[in-house]
Amino acid sequence: MASEIHFNKVAIIGVGLIGGSIALAMRKKGLCGTIAGVGRSIENLVDAKRLGIIDTFTQDVSIGVTDADLVIVAVPVLKTIDAVKQAAAHLKPGCIVTDAGSVKGAIVEQLEPLMPEGVFFVGAHPVAGTEQSGAAAAFAGLFEGHRCILTPTEDTDKEALATVRKLWQEAGATVTVMDAEVHDWILGVTSHLPHVIAYNLVNAVAEVGNRHKDILGYSAGGFKDSTRIASSSPEMWSEICGMNKNYILEGIEGFQKRLEAMKRLIQAGDLTGLKKEFTKAKEFRDTLNHKHHKPHAGPCNHNHD
Ligand code: NAD
Repeated sequence: MASEIHFNKVAIIGVGLIGGSIALAMRKKGLCGTIAGVGRSIENLVDAKRLGIIDTFTQDVSIGVTDADLVIVAVPVLKTIDAVKQAAAHLKPGCIVTDAGSVKGAIVEQLEPLMPEGVFFVGAHPVAGTEQSGAAAAFAGLFEGHRCILTPTEDTDKEALATVRKLWQEAGATVTVMDAEVHDWILGVTSHLPHVIAYNLVNAVAEVGNRHKDILGYSAGGFKDSTRIASSSPEMWSEICGMNKNYILEGIEGFQKRLEAMKRLIQAGDLTGLKKEFTKAKEFRDTLNHKHHKPHAGPCNHNHD
């Protein structure tokens, strides 16, 4: 059955893992005519064209978005505002602008007022990803079986919201609508905090590694499983920390308290107390496997970013 949505020209600003994957998903579903890629790195844009992700490319935002019916901004979060500022004067009436940023409050607040008359913004965050970056890592099935959170405000155009909802549903995602602040609070704890901890855990182990060569040679599943996400883009994650500062700091403080409590149990040799803490954690973590397990959909492990 033909889809209810179709865009003659789509512009993707930032043709990386997320921008490239939504482009491939749209092509697969026949949702678009041509796709123009706008990017910073020519090498990545050439890759994206060779891989059939985009038809044309440019480093000039104003050229890329001209005549576009849909603009998807998928650059690191702090750069999203700037990219849309450059695009704004060149957007045609009727155009829908959406993003994929992992932080929503500041993006929605700053982008909505930038929209020219007759151009509509809908904030979005597909909660799917891998630790890989760039167009070469993109694949059409990335969003299948994952959530996509939309964060409309009272001013969001209802038709544009419905169109963006269909876009992510066509890409295989389950769409949830949420207030942008609530999004930032929840994702601050479930996604941003684990990334900060994973990067830090790797650095802590590396410091020990200074005293023992080939320390990684002794690492087993524990280190690999708990630090895979530390291979994610440092540029992307430092910007997420910059933009979702308060909720991440709140998460870090909560984590520090728990770590201190566990340290005290270990110091006291309170194995009963420790076992109780580990059991509580195991039971909660096991519900993730049972309730929320998604089939493996792509070439890499998935984050839920
Ligand atoms: P990525 O590094 O794979 O892709 C980003 C692309 O943007 C790169 O190709 C880069 O060259 C380009 N770029 C950077 N600055 C630019 C600029 N000023 N103008 C034009 N292009 C520019 O990153 P990604 O994983 O695709 O993430 C993109 C966005 O999606 C981020 O906002 C991130 O928060 C969000 N997101 C990421 C994940 C994930 O797990 N990777 C999941 C959901 C949402």
